Amino acid sequence: MRILIVATGLMLLPMTYAVPQEPAQGEAAEVAALMARVGAPSPTAVDEFKKAGMDEVRPHVLTATERAKVASVLASLPKLNRRVLEKRLHSLAFVDGIPGEGTGLTSPMGKTGLYDITLRASILDEPLSTFLTTKEQRVFTKDGSGVTVTVTGTGTDAVTYVLLHESTHVTDFACGITAQPQSWFGVGVWASQTAMVAPLADSIAAKTYFRGGQRVSMGQAATVYDALAQTPFVSLYSTAEPQEDLAELVAWREIQKEHHGDLVITVGDAHGKTLGQWAPLSFPAVQKRFAEVDKLLELQGPCKGL
Ligand SMILES: [Zn+2]
Repeated sequence: MRILIVATGLMLLPMTYAVPQEPAQGEAAEVAALMARVGAPSPTAVDEFKKAGMDEVRPHVLTATERAKVASVLASLPKLNRRVLEKRLHSLAFVDGIPGEGTGLTSPMGKTGLYDITLRASILDEPLSTFLTTKEQRVFTKDGSGVTVTVTGTGTDAVTYVLLHESTHVTDFACGITAQPQSWFGVGVWASQTAMVAPLADSIAAKTYFRGGQRVSMGQAATVYDALAQTPFVSLYSTAEPQEDLAELVAWREIQKEHHGDLVITVGDAHGKTLGQWAPLSFPAVQKRFAEVDKLLELQGPCKGL
C-alpha cells in the first residue's frame, strides 16, 4: 500500500490544536507560528498508518536538537509553501514504529480546510539517497540478475525533501493547482484529475507499482528509466497521480535551485558495474515544467484559494 499518499475523505475531528488567527509577520514569526503546531499525531493519521498495516505506530517526542532541525527546514521552504502552511497547517507530527517505506501523510481535517502532516521520525536523521533508494525498491522485484537500482539525491537531506513534498500538497489543496488539469501544470500530461494523456499513459514508466501496476523485475529497470526519460515526470512516483506529480516537481526544482542538489538514478550489475544512469532534473520535458514551477513559487501574494 502506498503511504506517501494524500489521504482524503477522512472524518471531521474536533480541533485540538491552537491555530493562530492573525497572520505572522516575517520568516522568523512564520516559523515560530508553525513550530507551535508541532505536536502529537492526529488520531486520524494514526488510524491511516494502522490501516496500512503499521500497527506499531506511536507518537515521537522531538528532542531539542530535532526541534531545531525542523525549525530550520521550515525556514528553508519556499515562501509560498510556508505562507500556505501558516494558514492551513493544523498539526505537524512525527511518529515512530513505521518501516522505511512508510514516510508521510498529509491529511485534511474534515472540511475545515486545515491539514495534518504526519512524518516518520527517523527521516530526521536519514540521508536523502537512503530514503529515495528505499522508496524506489518497491517498484522492482529481485530476479536473480544481480541488477541493482540506486537513487542518489544530493544538496539536502530526507526531511527537507519530504517537507517540500508534503507542504506542496497543502499548497496544491489550498490553491487548487491540480484541480485544473488544463492549466500550465497538467497540459500535455494529465487529461483529467486521474488520467494521463494518451501517449504518456502507454509508457512503461507510467505502469509501475507507483501507479497501481505490477512490480517489474530488476533486470527491466534500465528499460523503465529509458522510458521515464521520454516523459515530463521527474520521478516514477510522479506518475501516481497529479498531486504527486506536482509535489515531486516542486520539491526537485527547489532542491536543484535553492539547495544546488541533483537526482541521479543508477542501474548497476552484480559486479558493481554501471549499466545506465539517468538525471531526471535534466530531462528536456521536465526542464520545461520547471520554468512554470518557478513562476508558481514567485507568487508573492496568497493564491485565490486563500
Ligand atoms: Zn505525496
